Amino acid sequence: MKFIQFNKPYLAGKEYDYIKQAVDQMHISGDGLFTKKCHEIIETILGVPRVLLTTSCTHALEMSALLLDVRPGDEIIVPSFTFVTTINAFVLRGARPVFIDIRPDTLNMDETLLEDLISPKTKVIVPVHYAGVGCEMDMIMNVADEHGISVVEDNAHSLFGKYKGKYLGTFGCMATQSFHETKNFTSGEGGALLINDPQFIERAEIIREKGTNRSRFFRGQVDKYTWVDIGSSFLPSDILAAFLYAQLEMREDIQSKREKIWKNYATNLHGWAEENGVRLPLIPSYCEQSFHMFYILFPTLDMRQRMIEYLKSKKIHSVFHYLPLHISKMGKKFGGKKGDCPVAEDISDRLLRLPFYNDLSDDDQARVIEEIISFPI
Ligand SMILES: *Cc1c(COP(=O)(O)O)cnc(C)c1O
Repeated sequence: MKFIQFNKPYLAGKEYDYIKQAVDQMHISGDGLFTKKCHEIIETILGVPRVLLTTSCTHALEMSALLLDVRPGDEIIVPSFTFVTTINAFVLRGARPVFIDIRPDTLNMDETLLEDLISPKTKVIVPVHYAGVGCEMDMIMNVADEHGISVVEDNAHSLFGKYKGKYLGTFGCMATQSFHETKNFTSGEGGALLINDPQFIERAEIIREKGTNRSRFFRGQVDKYTWVDIGSSFLPSDILAAFLYAQLEMREDIQSKREKIWKNYATNLHGWAEENGVRLPLIPSYCEQSFHMFYILFPTLDMRQRMIEYLKSKKIHSVFHYLPLHISKMGKKFGGKKGDCPVAEDISDRLLRLPFYNDLSDDDQARVIEEIISFPI
């Protein structure tokens, strides 16, 4: 019996061609031909004033913290149910995380709790569009605007997803993408900073280029380049951009493959889920999701654990995530304690992610579905 992986990297077709072109051009450092192509494609589709590829989503988040001048004494409001770097990027600058619980339906930040968590020290709210389904951006943006707080969207799951007809990643002053191997589009490691508020563009280019005005120099806007600000090295090699461009170019094909897999799970597990008190993902009617993952929610932790073991015995790899960050070792140092985010704590115990990748075959997916349904609950 063949082992069915949880995730598998995918080649869209032209990756090697484009890498060869990048190498042939002898421009394999950052901001070459393919980096520009990646910038353009995302800027054009999303209508974002400026996109900058970065070495990871983590680095894009770190850039946003630098651009917003996050410093010790500041607070950021972040979901406890997220990947660690959503928070660490701001903690690195000395900010204190204030953990917000999630909604039991979409597992996104519970926007109704925001007002109570805001203090005069709140600097940034960081919504994560979990599983590629939009957070309640109307209310989040209203509350943020009322209090003069910046919003940075962690859009790692949700490139090309929409909330009420508007692309995710275009709401906050900035948003961040991940092109890690586990995401819909990948360059192995990679990311991007989406800048919606043009006042940040010039400084973002500087911070990304080691604190120099090198980008302006290359555009002929200054006659020499020099050290002008703090910064680091956040730009990826054009070889990585070449790989990524091959994927972004095939976005419709990739997204339709993922949509098919997602819908296949939803359709075929629906009856079984209803009968057994298992919940499948809920997508609000006004959200167009990005088909990043398929999760199921068991009634109990025990049942989830037994399913993982059962699938493993059938050579199928399923995984769970996220351990709530407010009760992680670091989270506790910031005062997080059990009971602070009850929904996140509960969901984290019961969630299971099923194998999901672009070329998951019909046969393999059918086997996953069959084994789930035959699991002795
Ligand atoms: C994957 C992920 C990240 C980190 O992405 P990297 O590109 O690996 O740094 C951040 N936030 C969320 C929600 C993610 O899923």
